[in-house]
Amino acid sequence: MAHFGNASLNEAGQRSPGQHRLVPQNVKHAHNHKDALKAARGWQLCGIDRSVWVFVLAHAGLVALLLLSESELSRRVAGAITAGAGSITWDGAYVALVIACLALHVVLYMRLYRSDPGWVDPGDSQADEEGTQRQKCPHCGAFPPERSKHDFKTGRCVAKFDHFCPLIASSVGDLNHSLFWFYCVFQAFLIAWAWFVALDAATSCLSGTSRKSVTCWLLLAAVLLLVPLFNFFGGLALLHGYLAASGRTSYEICKGAKVPYLQPYYERYKGPAHFGLDPKGLASLLRELRKGNAPPAPYSLGVAENLNIFFFAEKPYLYRRSDIGHEDV
Ligand SMILES: [Zn+2]
Repeated sequence: MAHFGNASLNEAGQRSPGQHRLVPQNVKHAHNHKDALKAARGWQLCGIDRSVWVFVLAHAGLVALLLLSESELSRRVAGAITAGAGSITWDGAYVALVIACLALHVVLYMRLYRSDPGWVDPGDSQADEEGTQRQKCPHCGAFPPERSKHDFKTGRCVAKFDHFCPLIASSVGDLNHSLFWFYCVFQAFLIAWAWFVALDAATSCLSGTSRKSVTCWLLLAAVLLLVPLFNFFGGLALLHGYLAASGRTSYEICKGAKVPYLQPYYERYKGPAHFGLDPKGLASLLRELRKGNAPPAPYSLGVAENLNIFFFAEKPYLYRRSDIGHEDV
């Protein structure tokens, strides 16, 4: 038997049959994650964290701009009001759909903002279900499950730590990674919708011969600003979709050979020791993937199983390394 950390592999480096099943992790978990959430927050205004202010003001400001200008949204709202509350019209359906999408988006964000990424308490279980003793974290004294990382912002270990996200002023880990992906997808979708509405309104107002209003210039600014924002959230959705499908995390890609449990795999890997998640690092990652030289992914169980675990498995999940992880996904 070969031992990497607290994982046991047989002579061929494979896990025993049956170990690939979805196994809920025996962790008494998140008893007081509110304390960790509090520690993760940035500066506050009126008791509300800055990330929430940014979210609310950016969305409210954009919607207000679209309502106050000659946009499709303001025309539809006017049409729905004229038709009256009792009548069902296309304008009314459009406005109802926009309101529903915005409400869903707020709910999604707040659920993510308040979510527990998978903080591990020092009082949590010291061994896995299988009886494998976990290694003690030297920083918080907890016994985190495999693939965890200590989060210095909150002073706790996070199960399958991915990254610290300033957008929600908290960590993204095993428990909220799929929610984070849904949020990025929906945010990119809403930005794309707002961009088309703002572009249409800005084009009509800028093409006229009359004196341009402040609203007109604000619409133009919104059109220009929404492009990089769409690229950012669309890029995040694509990146985290890839990470989910390939059984990787941002942390594992970024730190590579520096991650203790990945060291044995990176010693055999013929490629960069790590990949930054900036344009340069991502270009380097794409180059290696095109060459069929994917970075080590020892926790990958194939695309279908990885996605199954990412979206549907009970969390925190008991991750185990497997030699079938080096896939060119
Ligand atoms: Zn720790």
